[in-house]
Amino acid sequence: MDAGQLNGLVYLDNAATSFPKPSSVVDAVRDCLLYECGNAGRGSHLLAMRAAERVYECRERLAAFFEVDGPEQVCFTLNTTEALNIAIKGLLRRGDHVLISDMEHNAVYRPVYKLWSEGKIEYDVFSSLALDNRRTPSAICAEIAKRMRKNTRMLVCTGSSNICSLTMPLEEIGDFCRKNGIIFVVDGAQCAGHIPISMKKMKIDALCLPSHKGLLGAQGCGALILGKGILPNGLCEGGNGIASLSGVMEGELPERLEAGTLPLAAIAGLCEGVRIIEELGVDAIEYHEKKLFSLAAERIGNMRRAKIFCPQYKGSVLTFSLDGYGSEQVADMLSRDGICVRGGFHCCALGHKTLGSDSNGGVRVSFGVHNSSKDIDRLVASVADIIG
Ligand code: PMP
Repeated sequence: MDAGQLNGLVYLDNAATSFPKPSSVVDAVRDCLLYECGNAGRGSHLLAMRAAERVYECRERLAAFFEVDGPEQVCFTLNTTEALNIAIKGLLRRGDHVLISDMEHNAVYRPVYKLWSEGKIEYDVFSSLALDNRRTPSAICAEIAKRMRKNTRMLVCTGSSNICSLTMPLEEIGDFCRKNGIIFVVDGAQCAGHIPISMKKMKIDALCLPSHKGLLGAQGCGALILGKGILPNGLCEGGNGIASLSGVMEGELPERLEAGTLPLAAIAGLCEGVRIIEELGVDAIEYHEKKLFSLAAERIGNMRRAKIFCPQYKGSVLTFSLDGYGSEQVADMLSRDGICVRGGFHCCALGHKTLGSDSNGGVRVSFGVHNSSKDIDRLVASVADIIG
């Protein structure tokens, strides 16, 4: 796959945003801006219709890729955070109880915390058993069951952590939620495009996604994909090209949640990104990233002063610390060597607390389809230089 330019940098921050973008994604974005950039759903002239076709094509591709009933279930958002906010705030009612895992990103934790601090909902955090070597799907479901209440209406959890490669047993949690009448919301920020996700098989009611990470698209777009019958209120009102004479914005998906002009160029890029992933195969991507993880974990893990977080979970995110160094200090030193990684806390207060890394954070190395073992060689050499 041809890709954009790195100019000697080693990019290992794909959990923040994937880079470089495949050249066909860049072409799709550019072609859209050059030739097809009408406003989808606004008017019936040629360019508006072409824009609407582009949007529809992307809805269809996402619906097929994540196995949901139809393209109308795919609503575009600005990013994962907005999708999560709509799912959480648009579906919960006063007095509801919500369960979230102890590995959640602030994009889940903060909206839930805000509703709780306003006295609207109650919430509990269940254990993902991240550090328990008897971790099994049924043990995690038992943790969830322990926290359930009569008014538990929603469970929100990440598919994959953004601070280590822990994944959640979505199929078993989905089964549990369906049996107990709980709405199942999944934060797909780190799993989409990295591991197989099926809304149907996993009984996911709301899947929240970014275009710009594992799906290889541009920034500025995300998606909220909803199961049949799940109809959140939107957080924002405005024009959507439908029932223009009415003062209320309601009706059917997807337009019910899409106020204002859609990010057409980013949607065109996302559509091409998903096409590439289908072509490469998400299983092959997962295998590739696990191989890079193992290579890096073995070599960095053998260095004195180095500690890998949760090496038992292999995947696209590897976080480590160096005894005697701050995590951001190490990330800065690597950056001076041309290596892009992220130190600190990665917007994941709950997860770092769970792993016991909430005082120093960690140095997060995150892999993508473009990385190779040569990138690991550069990283390992640079870490070895720091240790001296
Ligand atoms: N959830 C997780 C697990 C993440 O890693 C991120 C991105 N750092 C988000 C949510 C938020 O994603 P976005 O930047 O697309 O809003």
